[in-house]
Amino acid sequence: MTDYDYDLFVVGAGSGGVRAANAAANQGARVAIAEVRHFGGTCVNLGCVPKKLLVYASQFKDDFAAAAGFGWTLDNASFDWPSLIANKNREIERLQAVYQHHLQQSRVTIFNGKAQLLDAHTVAVAGNQCTAKRILLATGGWPFVPDIAGKQYIVTSNDMFSLDKLPERIVIIGGGYIAVEFASILSGLGVDTTVCHRGEKLLEGFDEDIRDFLAAAMRKQGIKILFNCDIQAIAADGNAFSVSLLDGKTMTTDLVMYATGRTPNSQGFGLEQLGVALDDKGAIIVDSHYQTNLPSIYALGDVTDRVNLTPVAIAEGEALVNSLFAKQARPVDYSNIPTAVFCQPNIASVGLTETEARQKFPSIDIYKTEFKPIKNTLSGKDENTMMKMIVERETDKVIGLHMIGADAPEIIQGMAVAMRAGATKALFDSTIGIHPTAAEEFVSLHNALT
Ligand code: NDP
Repeated sequence: MTDYDYDLFVVGAGSGGVRAANAAANQGARVAIAEVRHFGGTCVNLGCVPKKLLVYASQFKDDFAAAAGFGWTLDNASFDWPSLIANKNREIERLQAVYQHHLQQSRVTIFNGKAQLLDAHTVAVAGNQCTAKRILLATGGWPFVPDIAGKQYIVTSNDMFSLDKLPERIVIIGGGYIAVEFASILSGLGVDTTVCHRGEKLLEGFDEDIRDFLAAAMRKQGIKILFNCDIQAIAADGNAFSVSLLDGKTMTTDLVMYATGRTPNSQGFGLEQLGVALDDKGAIIVDSHYQTNLPSIYALGDVTDRVNLTPVAIAEGEALVNSLFAKQARPVDYSNIPTAVFCQPNIASVGLTETEARQKFPSIDIYKTEFKPIKNTLSGKDENTMMKMIVERETDKVIGLHMIGADAPEIIQGMAVAMRAGATKALFDSTIGIHPTAAEEFVSLHNALT
């Protein structure tokens, strides 16, 4: 027995915090959780889920165009943004209620408000002061926007889910996940879209072939992509905005969206005053047990700025609870984490890129295929699929899989299991394909590139 009010006090009811709270309560721990905004955090409210709904909405334009090749006649198709947003909001509210319901079912005490850490065991929230043996910070991240003249005119992904109306033109700054996903969504919904990226390629960290393929595919769809594009200032120009570039050029647009990364949400909780160590980006520094330099304070998910993906935060929440309350060490394996980008075409990857593999292994084989998906033979859509496999020659192990094309995330999820199980190229080759699919190409890659 302790004198603490709770065994665990979780700050932040996003994916990682909620999983940790529910799992700890289900182990018999006395748990409280505090949330200042919406239950479900970024993923449910301003990230993965509403984004995917917008992605679906944006694909109908292509689907309607494809339909004619399959004998359908569709007249007068039209799109209504407010209806989409209202329907999306209804679904998000349903999910928020599901999150709260699960917490209540697990008998987690819920506080609505911003938590402040008063000391290493005390939290103040919504007029209450509670003590806890352990405090877990799972407060996620927030869009980062660099200081730029005219910053007050821009929007971020947070705003995109509740725009009153779609702009006719948009300039998106950045070349990462969020920039390319929103570029595809908006272009699909008929918005004249320009991506302005300071680098030379989109999607830093992805395989070079995928990066090149994506830029070409997006351009083919009519998205304008400007590389080596640095913003000098943004100014209001009547009902529009004027975006001045460092090279002297100017663009006029109806909306400017910044997608220039995310900042760990670690400010305003009293962490600095307590002496919780943060890195130079403000991420909470934790050890391999998610423990900060103050032994009773833990952190996981995006606020630690390591692998900023929802399923990783969930896995971290579970691993922490297993080690603290179930006394079972089941650490998260951070190797070979599959990831996807829901741009058009979709991208998914697991394992090493070709560049990483060449640095790590003395000899590798590369298998690559590019083909027209069967649907596009009748749809007339001018878009191919590309797949790439990287094999370590000495062991024959598959060490990297990359795909750009329809359903890539659905396909790579299964492939990731095989890869994590140590599958060799020979094992892929001996697997019978499912015909006719795109996925069967991964078990039919015969000739290594020379
Ligand atoms: P990313 O880190 O993916 O990309 C940020 C982009 O902004 C990069 O192209 C970067 O360029 C550029 N940038 C950074 N700072 C500046 C600056 N000062 N001026 C101009 N450009 C700048 O961040 P996102 O915002 O796209 O996404 C945040 C995170 O959210 C992702 O890393 C990912 O973990 C997660 N996410 C995951 C998704 C998924 O799983 N499908 C979807 C959306 C988000 P450079 O490369 O030169 O640094």
